[in-house]
Amino acid sequence: MSDELRIKFWGVRGSYPAPGAGTVKYGGNTASVEICAGERTILLDAGTGIIPLGRELAGATPALVPRTAGHGARERTGEIMLLFSHLHHDHTQGFPFFIPAYLPNVRLHIFGPDGTHESLAHVLEHNQSAETFPVSLRDMSATKNIQSVRESQIIVWDELGIRLAQSTVGLGEEAVIIRIHKSYAHPGGVYVYRITWGGKSVVYATDTEGYVGTDRRLVEFAKDADILIHDAQYLEAHYRGQLAGFPATQGYGHSTAAMACEVAFASKSRQLILFHHDPSYSDAMVAGMEATAKTQFGETRAAYEGLEIVLQDPTKIAKKLQSLSPRPHSQRERRQWM
Ligand SMILES: [Zn+2]
Ligand SMILES: [Zn+2]
Repeated sequence: MSDELRIKFWGVRGSYPAPGAGTVKYGGNTASVEICAGERTILLDAGTGIIPLGRELAGATPALVPRTAGHGARERTGEIMLLFSHLHHDHTQGFPFFIPAYLPNVRLHIFGPDGTHESLAHVLEHNQSAETFPVSLRDMSATKNIQSVRESQIIVWDELGIRLAQSTVGLGEEAVIIRIHKSYAHPGGVYVYRITWGGKSVVYATDTEGYVGTDRRLVEFAKDADILIHDAQYLEAHYRGQLAGFPATQGYGHSTAAMACEVAFASKSRQLILFHHDPSYSDAMVAGMEATAKTQFGETRAAYEGLEIVLQDPTKIAKKLQSLSPRPHSQRERRQWM
């Protein structure tokens, strides 16, 4: 089993898809991020980036065939987890075209917030009502387990399967632990997720606007994250209404890169990934924003389609090196406990 935590970006644009010659470098698909914790696949949001991602998952057939693996436990590798930050179009519009949702041997575990007046399941059903889409949610063949979650709940994925918990007491080190922070800094609210596995943490904070003095609740939630993915939709001048042709966007629920840098700095995150680029921005504008942000928080990158980050747990690497060494067993075992 792989001991890598891998993050791959499939859609990095906010609001609506932006294909064309001006967005080739960073990409035009809306929000979709894939996280692989070893063999486990966790998807963040279902903007149009989830369409090519789904094609790749479906093509990797062995990953979708259930098999037995590890310590006698049943590892259901046909399982995919999908977490919705919220249910705005740019985070759901790719789902009706997500091929694994049509495969009968796939179990999809979908978590997210309820809508304002409806449950998560009802909002997804309405997105595919007969008037707006030819295939209903029910007619997609994958087994779907759709659950609304609350901020106090923890989503756990370990050898016993996927479930909700109130605490992490008693969980083994192989457990993927997902915590939820509800932010009010976006119209209707938004969930921020913290995914922890193998001693590494990724925080996904899209569709959120900074506060004067920094978003302190988010800073606390993102403390010491290895990767902080943060909304950075607007250039400072755009946000303030000082960019010709662009209206002011204060209160729209999105951040400037400087706001993202403030959270990264205050939370002591190791790397910042600027996310949810404005669909009207060219590659040059995003690159300019990225360059300015690097002067504010050195370990910053603007997300682009295809960006892949691999994190490894240093203790696991050490163990692996020890197991490869030619020492006798007794000595090797003793050393592992030192
Ligand atoms: Zn959005
Ligand atoms: Zn939104």
